[in-house]
Amino acid sequence: MIMTDPLVARMREFGTTIFAEMSALAVRTGAVNLGQGFPDTDGPPEMLDAAARALREGHNQYPPGPGIPELRAAIAGHQKRFWGLDYDPDGEILVTAGATEAIAASLLALCEPGDEVVCFEPYYDSYAAGIALAGAVRRPVTLRPGPDGRYAFDADELRAAFGPRTRLVLLNSPHNPTGKVFDRDELTLIASLCQEYDVPAVTDEVYEHVVFSDATVPHIPLATLPGMRSRTLRISSAGKTFSCTGWKVGWVSGPAPLVSAVTRVKQFLTYVNAGPLQPAVAVALGLGDEYYAGFTADLQAKRDLLAGGLVDAGFTIQRSEGTYFITADITPLGGRDGIEFCRALPDIAGVVAVPTQVFYDDKDAGRHLVRFTFCKRPEVLTEAATRLRDATFPR
Ligand SMILES: *Cc1c(COP(=O)(O)O)cnc(C)c1O
Repeated sequence: MIMTDPLVARMREFGTTIFAEMSALAVRTGAVNLGQGFPDTDGPPEMLDAAARALREGHNQYPPGPGIPELRAAIAGHQKRFWGLDYDPDGEILVTAGATEAIAASLLALCEPGDEVVCFEPYYDSYAAGIALAGAVRRPVTLRPGPDGRYAFDADELRAAFGPRTRLVLLNSPHNPTGKVFDRDELTLIASLCQEYDVPAVTDEVYEHVVFSDATVPHIPLATLPGMRSRTLRISSAGKTFSCTGWKVGWVSGPAPLVSAVTRVKQFLTYVNAGPLQPAVAVALGLGDEYYAGFTADLQAKRDLLAGGLVDAGFTIQRSEGTYFITADITPLGGRDGIEFCRALPDIAGVVAVPTQVFYDDKDAGRHLVRFTFCKRPEVLTEAATRLRDATFPR
């Protein structure tokens, strides 16, 4: 009994993540890995130097529970500077082990077993597991590609997802994997439902600085909408903005009672994290506007490079208005099932992608879609584009 399946029932639906399978496939076949979204270049040198200094200068013990004061001040300053949001570094900001821990700790802090979490699918892979760990139930609302190439949801479907058991809304915008940036009308509907049902929102904004110049809308933090600051836990992280996904330095900001609840859980998950990296992230957050503008422009050029390659290869692509990702429809290439397609793609074309159906409860909605990342060096993207264009897809 102990050895047959020791795993708790609520976690059994979660196997090895698709990223592990696809990355192993990339290594085994020598394929270009456009599966997992991690950059292949380093972040700002000022940040790396500050981390090296902190290591050498003895910042190697437990930092304060909520994070070092200079990082919390930098997080507050950054949100004021870019979004006009005011947070008190003492009590309204908590540093976490990446956005992932902030999300898990928020769910564990706020959900009783059986509570429902409204989220959008395809969802980021840790959401479903985090909700399950809390004993809560996910109520996904499906994002579908519209005729304009943007993903959208049905307003009635969102309304129907709310009910007496709704405990919170978990929103990711800019959205991984679709590249969707939620617009003001969509956010206004979400905000009004949060208020009608008197529930908090947890927002995952790790791509807050990855919205492209041709996007329909700029990034709008949900907390900036009327009545929402007081009920929103706003989550971000250094990983995506400063190309240091291995550092796992994230943070959550919100009204003191909500942040205090998350802190209560975080202190028993990891207690504290990333001591010597915290001063370095404080330096990075304070970089000038040219860093942020350059970072976004660089990714936009990379997006265009990959988008051109995918179209040349025969995929139909959806608009990517932000994030590190483009989703593509495999139907024009004779594909029907994204999992089969992605398992065969390294042999057919020498490229690895990720099937997005694994991020849906409604598998049919995502069966024909796969996700490519473009946060790679131009020569890597060019090589992938060439391989895809030259590949012969079995029809
Ligand atoms: C990468 C990512 C995260 C995880 O961020 P970490 O800081 O690495 O934990 C969370 N949400 C989304 C949507 C992501 O793409």
